Amino acid sequence: MMQIKKIGIMGGTFDPIHYGHLMLAEQIRASYSLDQIVFIPVGNAPHKQEHKPTDKMHRYMMTMLATASNPHFTVSDIEIKKEVITYAIDTIKELRVLYNTPVELYFITGADAIILLDTWKSYKELVKYVKFIGASRPGVDEHVLKEKIEELSLELGAHIELCSVPALAISSTDIRNRVCEGKSIKYLLPETVENYICKEKLYLC
Ligand code: ATP
Ligand code: MG
Repeated sequence: MMQIKKIGIMGGTFDPIHYGHLMLAEQIRASYSLDQIVFIPVGNAPHKQEHKPTDKMHRYMMTMLATASNPHFTVSDIEIKKEVITYAIDTIKELRVLYNTPVELYFITGADAIILLDTWKSYKELVKYVKFIGASRPGVDEHVLKEKIEELSLELGAHIELCSVPALAISSTDIRNRVCEGKSIKYLLPETVENYICKEKLYLC
């Protein structure tokens, strides 16, 4: 009998990608025996109004560099090649067609994203197509998170699991601020990405 492939979807602005993202994806891949993790840098995100994301080609390149050494990691340009604002629901629908064979899709997110899930476009439909794996993230109120998950599960039959991963208080916002302030970003993200940021003079103020 053919084994159904389990694919993890890791969406993010990745501006820049850091060890918080990579560790999260790898921990969940191993815990849930996923065959592959697809990193999908968002093109034009509906949120992120407070900071205009860096050029998508740079974010795509950094995601490629960061994931190159892991045979289970791949990067998709499905969102960055579009000029319009992209939504998870449309991407997931497209991926289901692209895979062409039955696959189980696991949407991997940090706990902060789970709390905002009911603000996503067509989230009621989205939860029918994917299982969510929400990972703990420093600074997120566990109580609010659990209430939100219970609400979505009861109302919509959403499948949302919480997975605890080692807490890394790393964020892209903090890395951008550090570069701007001339502080070190070493060991917060892969060296290849650090070198790329330096070479392309990203995040300077
Ligand atoms: P920004 O500060 O620009 O929002 P970010 O560090 O939150 O960047 P995103 O690209 O917004 O990174 O995040 C993509 C996904 O990775 C989200 O689901 C987010 O919750 C998760 N994530 C990011 N950093 C961590 C971390 N340190 N631990 C757990 N999850 C994380
Ligand atoms: Mg974020």
